Amino acid sequence: MKLISTRNPHVQATVSEALRRGIAPDGGLYVPEAFPRLTVAAFPQTDDLPALAHAFLAPFFAGDTLAGQLRDIVQEAFDFPVPLVRLATAQDASLLELFHGPTAAFKDFGARFLAGCLARLHQTSERTLTILVATSGDTGGAVAAAFHNRPGIEVIVLYPRGLVSPRQEMQLTCWGGNITSCSVEGTFDDCQRLVKEAFADPTVAAHRELSSANSINIGRLLPQACYYVQSSLATYRRTGELANYIVPSGNLGNVLSCVWARRVGLPIGEIVMAFNENRTVTDYLSSGQWQPRASLATLASAMDVGNPSNMERLRHLHPEWQVLIGQVSGMSVSDSEIKARIQTAERTLKQTLCPHTACAAEVYERLTEAQRAKPWIWVATAHPAKFPETVEPLVGHEVAVPPSLARLLSLPKQVTEIKAELSALKAVLA
Ligand SMILES: *Cc1c(COP(=O)(O)O)cnc(C)c1O
Repeated sequence: MKLISTRNPHVQATVSEALRRGIAPDGGLYVPEAFPRLTVAAFPQTDDLPALAHAFLAPFFAGDTLAGQLRDIVQEAFDFPVPLVRLATAQDASLLELFHGPTAAFKDFGARFLAGCLARLHQTSERTLTILVATSGDTGGAVAAAFHNRPGIEVIVLYPRGLVSPRQEMQLTCWGGNITSCSVEGTFDDCQRLVKEAFADPTVAAHRELSSANSINIGRLLPQACYYVQSSLATYRRTGELANYIVPSGNLGNVLSCVWARRVGLPIGEIVMAFNENRTVTDYLSSGQWQPRASLATLASAMDVGNPSNMERLRHLHPEWQVLIGQVSGMSVSDSEIKARIQTAERTLKQTLCPHTACAAEVYERLTEAQRAKPWIWVATAHPAKFPETVEPLVGHEVAVPPSLARLLSLPKQVTEIKAELSALKAVLA
């Protein structure tokens, strides 16, 4: 399959090239030149995620150097359960639990798949591959976990000191070995700027091969589509109806994976984005005016995005606003509504939700009766134990930490403190 840049269809790459580069040379994002079409009958009669993932991804990797290794890559990356849990609601609603990976959030899917691909692509190279990742919390932990102990690859994680939660910091700093965690004296924007400056600096690039693992890499979007393949097929086989989704959204990577799965032909109906009080996308959907802005801090912090990068891919797919608003919708949820919804879900559904998933639960309540007569899936993006400061006072009990996460939290902290200057980052790289 051929990929093209969102900014110029003549800027092309194979999937492997796009995985290595991250961003296209013209600053655009890679998207498929044309989407494959698959019918329900094209998928094996199984609920096995690696088998379904292989059937979905094979056309994207057709002719690519990684095609022959795709089966191993998905087998290795998706080695944890992905339960679709029926909720105790009057209508047909289920929770898609994407938080059973090593760092207890959906970003494990993308990070583990990308790591499997890059490790294989890099095998024949003499030079060390250095992955630079700026994180506001969740991404860095997932990427560090996925690349830990991979030979020939090192990871430098940059996070803003004092601006990530205590448990997030533990997941960023517990690794050692080939992972270097830098706590930067600055903000998330400073961390992103340092990564960009390092990429642009010729003396850095001369000594090492640099790559990034942020959410614009297509190697994170494609694997995320696989849990939509699995859950929509399961729903369709159970009910004969399309599955409808509510996706907690920030940078729009997760929801774009759902849109792509539907585009390929999976039995998916409506796709509704749940946002926190960052209203850039909801304002665009209602006005047609695209006005990115600075992000606001909310309880659903992994969705605190004011200029979502994957909007460029969504608008490339549906350039006309009139068409786009027929394909996806979105609603915004306030912090007080998040809190109230966590309490209600605990009481009535016996489900402890993280603040991001609570946005999806709140949006479900705002759907019409006619909409709720269909099967809906709330996408649960993180385990509530990642956010005890918010969740525990609301539900009135401790939230048990899953064993894989508990192990990470028990490891000693290894961190390098740096100033928000390129010279400081270069000293770490030296
Ligand atoms: C990253 C993240 C989101 C937002 O996902 P996008 O792909 O950026 O839209 C939502 N919830 C959690 C827990 C996350 O870590």
